[in-house]
Amino acid sequence: MCIFCKIVQGEVPSRKVYESEQVVAFHDITPQAPVHIIIIPKKHIVTMNEVETGTDDAVIAELFAAARKIAQELGIAESGYRLVNNCNEDSGMEVSHLHFHLLGGRKLGSIVS
Ligand code: IMP
Repeated sequence: MCIFCKIVQGEVPSRKVYESEQVVAFHDITPQAPVHIIIIPKKHIVTMNEVETGTDDAVIAELFAAARKIAQELGIAESGYRLVNNCNEDSGMEVSHLHFHLLGGRKLGSIVS
């Protein structure tokens, strides 16, 4: 089972900021910004490439709705934030479970490096 599935199951502790039937969001363990939240579907979708149009539409929509809500709640909606998805090797993806990074709370640098 992957680390994010273990977080979903409660086998690995996390600092959750959002949870619903299909989605969970928690603080990144090595934050790259004052706000760094990981937002995931509870379902083990490996990457964006494995998202199934139709079947996964509702959960994908909820990931974005959760990001909007969390940004508001953590006070970065107006100052600004970045929502990042890594997919496969060239992106530097480390955890093979679909996730979005919600980053904010400081001026962010270049989008690529
Ligand atoms: P990726 O490079 O897009 O795959 O990002 C994976 C992210 O998951 C990294 O920012 C890690 O710091 C984060 N991460 C890995 N394990 C844990 C954990 O157990 N709790 C919270 N965040 C984690």
